[in-house]
Amino acid sequence: MKKTIKDVNWTGKTAVMRCDFNVPLDGDKITDDTRIIASLPSIEYLIENGAAIVLMSHLGRPKGEAKPEFSLAPVAKRLSECLGKEVKFVACDEVVNDEVRSAAKALKGGEVMLIENVRYRAEEEKNDSAFSKELSELGDIFVQDAFGTSHRAHASTTGIADYIPAVSGFLIEKELKFLGEAVNNPKRPFAAVMGGAKVKDKIPVITNLLDKVDILIIGGGMAYTFFKSQGYSIGNSLLDEEGLELAGDILKLAEEKGVKFMLPVDVVAADEFANDSPHDVYPVDSIPDNRMGLDIGPKTIELFTEALKSAKTIVWNGPMGVFEMDTFAVGTKAIAECLAECDATTVIGGGDSAAAVTKFGLADKMTHISTGGGASLEFLEGIELPGISVIEDK
Ligand code: ADP
Ligand code: MG
Repeated sequence: MKKTIKDVNWTGKTAVMRCDFNVPLDGDKITDDTRIIASLPSIEYLIENGAAIVLMSHLGRPKGEAKPEFSLAPVAKRLSECLGKEVKFVACDEVVNDEVRSAAKALKGGEVMLIENVRYRAEEEKNDSAFSKELSELGDIFVQDAFGTSHRAHASTTGIADYIPAVSGFLIEKELKFLGEAVNNPKRPFAAVMGGAKVKDKIPVITNLLDKVDILIIGGGMAYTFFKSQGYSIGNSLLDEEGLELAGDILKLAEEKGVKFMLPVDVVAADEFANDSPHDVYPVDSIPDNRMGLDIGPKTIELFTEALKSAKTIVWNGPMGVFEMDTFAVGTKAIAECLAECDATTVIGGGDSAAAVTKFGLADKMTHISTGGGASLEFLEGIELPGISVIEDK
């Protein structure tokens, strides 16, 4: 178990907290403040418990230079509104300077400030020790609450913990509880549903999960590489040449491990990659040469949902089809509805899968939707995330 902000006596202490305020902007207008709202419980807890709070985050990719369009100033403003109290923002191209240092020192218990985009400094992504030290000197304890960047060893996510003790905020605590429990201590049967585009990206996840799951379901663009490795022709469907051999290995491995491995039995294939393209349902052994598979078919939906009904834990990563186009969103929607209705613990990892679930209005029906795309994928791979391993154990 990792220490959280609840394991610290905050009286007289300053928290240096890494948040994920990487919000979408239109000019200086925040178009989606979900990430700001998500950070509030941890910040409010710190305020109530007397901590002085220095917040930090990245925003976009300023590539190590001060670029006004990536300033966190709009975030400070929105955060002030949400908290109903001033969030002091010290505009500073170097992120930390004497003015920032004295502002941090002057903070009283319950006061909040936000420093400028840490990626204004090239040293951030290099996990530079001098910059990490500069950040650490703004407070006494590092609070890690940005899951989405915890798979990156940067100064504000990892290096800072070389100088001050690290604990997690509530967002990270929740990720570890649900992702961690699902993968390492699941109620069984444990099913994983994998989809999305590239096999190669997901092979490490599949390999790791094969050791843990009872049922492994593969759909989406990835499935066609498996079909190809089984000798079927896949027309113009997505093929990951590099992943072809690996797909064959996975099939063998699944058999060795006694995992119930399920691939689609039918697909919806179209002339073109377009919502209004002519399309039909085909069994997987008769995909026409001039068509591309863009969704799972009705028999597959039945097969997959039936298998999922028996599961007590379900992890889902990767859509079943090109869900961005309504015509080919049917399979993804059916799986999302199945997860929403079943009483298993359901965990969604992966940016596009989370977007799909949200698009269908089913987000609040899932046990947990991970906020970190790349980070949740690496977590599912069984990799120790650098920004998580620095958090002290209880
Ligand atoms: P996640 O972000 O949940 O990990 P991925 O990024 O791996 O998921 O994959 C999502 C993408 O895969 C979506 O943009 C979706 O359109 C695409 N996709 C799914 N099925 C197919 C398919 N049959 N052909 C082409 N692309 C597909
Ligand atoms: Mg994605």
